[in-house]
Amino acid sequence: MYVKVLLELKNKKTDQAYTYYVNDALKEDIQIGKRVKVPFNKRVLEGYVLEVNVQVPSTDDYTILEIQEVVDDEIILTKELLDIAYYIKETTLCSLSSAISVMLPRALKASVKTNVNKKYQDYLKLNGSLEYCLDKCKNNTQREIVSLVGENAVTLKKEAELISNSGVQTLLKNQVLEIEKQEEYRLTSSEVVQEEDYVLSPDQLNVVETVEQKLNEHQKYLLYGVTGSGKTEVYMQIIKKIINQDKSVIVLVPEISLTPQFIENFKKRFASLVACLHSGLLDGEKYDEWRKINRGEAKIVIGARSAIFAPLKNLGLIIIDEEHSETYKQENSPRYNAIDVAIFRAEKLNIPLILGSATPSLEHMARASKNLFTLLKLPNRINNQTLPNCAIVDMAKEMKKGNYLLSDRLKVEIESAVSRGEQVILLLNRRGFATNITCSNCGYTYKCPNCEITLTYHKTKNVLRCHYCGYTIFKKENCPNCGEDLNMYGSGTEKLEEVIKKEYPDLRVIRMDADTTKHKNGHAEIIEKFKNYEYDILLGTQMISKGLDFERVSLVGIINADASLNMPDFRSGERTFSLLLQASGRAGRKDTIGNVVIQTFNPDSFILKCVADQDYDAFYNYEMNIRKKLKYPPYYYLVGIKIQSRDYNEASHEATKVASYLRKNLSEKTIILGPTIANMFKVNNIYHFQIIIKYRFDDKLKKTLQELDKMYIINNKVKLDIDINPVTV
Ligand code: ADP
Ligand code: ZN
Repeated sequence: MYVKVLLELKNKKTDQAYTYYVNDALKEDIQIGKRVKVPFNKRVLEGYVLEVNVQVPSTDDYTILEIQEVVDDEIILTKELLDIAYYIKETTLCSLSSAISVMLPRALKASVKTNVNKKYQDYLKLNGSLEYCLDKCKNNTQREIVSLVGENAVTLKKEAELISNSGVQTLLKNQVLEIEKQEEYRLTSSEVVQEEDYVLSPDQLNVVETVEQKLNEHQKYLLYGVTGSGKTEVYMQIIKKIINQDKSVIVLVPEISLTPQFIENFKKRFASLVACLHSGLLDGEKYDEWRKINRGEAKIVIGARSAIFAPLKNLGLIIIDEEHSETYKQENSPRYNAIDVAIFRAEKLNIPLILGSATPSLEHMARASKNLFTLLKLPNRINNQTLPNCAIVDMAKEMKKGNYLLSDRLKVEIESAVSRGEQVILLLNRRGFATNITCSNCGYTYKCPNCEITLTYHKTKNVLRCHYCGYTIFKKENCPNCGEDLNMYGSGTEKLEEVIKKEYPDLRVIRMDADTTKHKNGHAEIIEKFKNYEYDILLGTQMISKGLDFERVSLVGIINADASLNMPDFRSGERTFSLLLQASGRAGRKDTIGNVVIQTFNPDSFILKCVADQDYDAFYNYEMNIRKKLKYPPYYYLVGIKIQSRDYNEASHEATKVASYLRKNLSEKTIILGPTIANMFKVNNIYHFQIIIKYRFDDKLKKTLQELDKMYIINNKVKLDIDINPVTV
């Protein structure tokens, strides 16, 4: 028999599938989707079997080599996963091997050599009848060991060694006992706690019943539930129905580390049926979780983006929580979007898909308005808790009073909240101490030599750091150019922490941002402590705005709403609305009424007014109008093309060539913008030019992009990066 094997060869961006011969001894074991070892250029490489029983090729030009070994007992790339890999290759213009590579844990990749193996435990077994074995014993200790082993079907070697280590050794040597190895998982599952279901509110019940009616067919749902409306409970009760049919479920969340409470809730309800896939796991742990899933032992997989590839058997439902989150799109090649993959998978399997959010993305809400998605609503908070009161504060006026970070209004609210024993969350979406340090005399500004952007000052370590490439230098006391005083502008979370501590020396303050959460479980620890009321104020970046449920929090302060509002991107309005609405949703969730203070230099911004009114519909209409006028999604589709090179002239020259190629080959109605220099023009000494394509229908697009991509694969000087449906431009 002949088979096709996909090899991942270093430095090759195109797929290399080769034909190999399978001898009779291996025929039984070989299956599509298993890894095999094959000879290649005098080396032995691993590859995936893509096809079996392929036509015998004419062997005149070259000799066909033989498969040496079948690596896997179980199929790791099921037919379903392989189909997904082909889909990703097709829709993101990547190679099949890079699509496969993003789908598998490290330990199961053909190209990577890891030492991750199955973990085994030694068990003891009698080597004959109990009577025979007891007879062979030389003393009471040995008899005790043999009795223990005889009583149980299997006995852990470790356990018997508690009686006597040397006794076990002797019995093994005398062949009275023998060792049996059994596979074991590294992460043992928690005990079943089995928390009771809540009695659903009428809104929740309505949602669950609607989904239940069509549980066994493909339906796309958009669950629009305001913050605190009990979406998680709805998910869990629907999942229960799926599990009862002996099917399995994938639940995607934006980032596992930011959602410890969400996972806790699932584990309490479903215990060992839950497996988690995320980047915080060690390779071995991931490998075990993956096999647990592959073998059908886990029924619910919770994970970030790549968990959409979980190899669940009999998948019955996919849920994507916080569907507006941009983390579902991978920002490097293969640039797949987990939501698109979910739609592909759900359509193929004919199963329902639920996208949930308090601030649905415009794209999905627009589809719902055209009935491409079924809209489900949870318009009220649980127990009809009122949504928070929001106030917008004009920071231009506050500056005149000398209030740079904290307005009078926010101070009053903080004081009154903590005096009632309530907690406060402050959001400032910029880490570090100051985002810009400039000389008061000569105007010198610290900039990154690799990226041309200003360096951010981190006071704790007294360093200036580039947030793009990581370049770091110590800060001098005075201007390195003229020796005069340096001024700091643009406050970050570190500065906010200092100001708060100075203003309220008696309050307990904790900061959560990328700098304070570097170590494993960093987030979870801070969240846990804050929840246990070890702190009065939690301040941090957008990390604090996600899916957290703190009963004691009654005030949320947005320190600088403009930080995200003024980003040069067509989605900045949507991003700001969603960030601020999610953040303000943290205020007042049990029996406290929430207050939100939004500080801004744009007090007339319509987006901020929508946040203050907690009015999604108004935001939706306003933003859709802008998108329509400016020809942006969801009215038009986008493709972003980046042309990158270390050589400025080369990049600029090729960018012009690419643009004219597109203009020549695409349909006339398609809009091609650029080339222009990209927002992040120079990163890590590489120059970036960009071209944006806007289109509605263009039957020439796919082929043109494929051709273009091929042209640059072999170019060593210039890199072409095509991003289909980018989240930022
Ligand atoms: P969302 O995800 O929509 O913001 P959550 O799922 O966090 O809302 O629910 C908010 C709170 O309400 C949680 O503490 C949850 O345990 C509780 N809750 C949900 N459903 C019910 C219910 N039917 N009865 C009582 N409490 C509920
Ligand atoms: Zn840099």
